Amino acid sequence: MDRLQDRVKLERPVIRLDQSGENVIVETLNHEIYHAKYVISAIPPGLTTKIHFNPELPATRNQLIQRLPMGSVIKTMMYYKEAFWRKMGYCGCMMIEEEETPIGFTLDDTKPDGSAPAIIGFILSRKASQLANLNKEERKRKICEYYSKVMGTEEALHPVHYEEKDWCKEQYSGGCYTAYFPPGIMTQFGSVIRTPVGRLYFAGTETATEWSGYMEGAIQAGERAAREVMCKMGLIGEDQIWVPEPESEDVPALPITTTFLERNLPSAQGLLRLFGYSAFFATVAAGVIAFRRGYVAFNSNFK
Ligand SMILES: Cc1cc2nc3c(=O)[nH]c(=O)nc-3n(C[C@H](O)[C@H](O)[C@H](O)COP(=O)(O)OP(=O)(O)OC[C@H]3O[C@@H](n4cnc5c(N)ncnc54)[C@H](O)[C@@H]3O)c2cc1C
Repeated sequence: MDRLQDRVKLERPVIRLDQSGENVIVETLNHEIYHAKYVISAIPPGLTTKIHFNPELPATRNQLIQRLPMGSVIKTMMYYKEAFWRKMGYCGCMMIEEEETPIGFTLDDTKPDGSAPAIIGFILSRKASQLANLNKEERKRKICEYYSKVMGTEEALHPVHYEEKDWCKEQYSGGCYTAYFPPGIMTQFGSVIRTPVGRLYFAGTETATEWSGYMEGAIQAGERAAREVMCKMGLIGEDQIWVPEPESEDVPALPITTTFLERNLPSAQGLLRLFGYSAFFATVAAGVIAFRRGYVAFNSNFK
């Protein structure tokens, strides 16, 4: 931010993008006007429906942006006097699948120096819509009850502070973690997700080819869009737009050491189900063969 100084303009939502003249004109909600040779939009596609485009967007892009809703998540932070779960030998990460639970999964967010002991929990998908109808105190109570049940301690019932953020309420996010493609949208409209419109280029995690929906995807998309503009300006060749990510020195990729069978064998539950289905189909097949050969007959004279 220091290096960028006041070139980053905050709290200025774009409301108009005009490519009809020599420069691209970008207008913000507070009616500031910016002139540019090229524009990169890193706004989640659905939120660009708030922008007036001149000329109008091509039909497929205009339809695409109406079909990519944002996910629904409420992020919650439960602060405790101490990280009691650590004393119990737990890491603070819970995956809770019961239908009644408000929280889908949690992480320990205690700071590295041990201060501010807290558990982050995410209220996901349909539960975010359902629980949005409760008040903050009610959500807090429900969450604590589940933490207490899962960890088997009353200590979870007594947080010292609670914070939450309903991302679905955010006007310029619309939800999180990212936009999703309902069935059929990727195949019907997906091909134009990165296609530039005149001098307007598209970044944002939704346009990434790897780690879409994550920070890594946002960075890959931003770098690719920047290279697309550089290519258009004649600074690099077309073959330099898609360059592979360099190997991270801090976090090098680890080879996958599991065998094919370890990765692909069904779980014990899956195996039992497979045997169950196989036995069922074998019985049906044997019945059909026996019937065809006349070993068994059905009596149709029911009264
Ligand atoms: C609670 C939560 C937890 C997450 N956890 C993780 C995680 O653990 N790991 C991970 O990798 N990712 C995580 N993500 C996802 C990650 O934050 C996103 O993938 C990433 O921020 C996407 O970056 P982006 O630049 O594409 O878009 P965003 O970061 O969404 O930025 C888009 C920007 O566009 C702005 N905008 C919207 N409309 C307009 C307009 N009309 N004019 C101008 N600006 C506009 C918005 O205000 C916003 O600042 C999480 C997200 C959330 C919400």
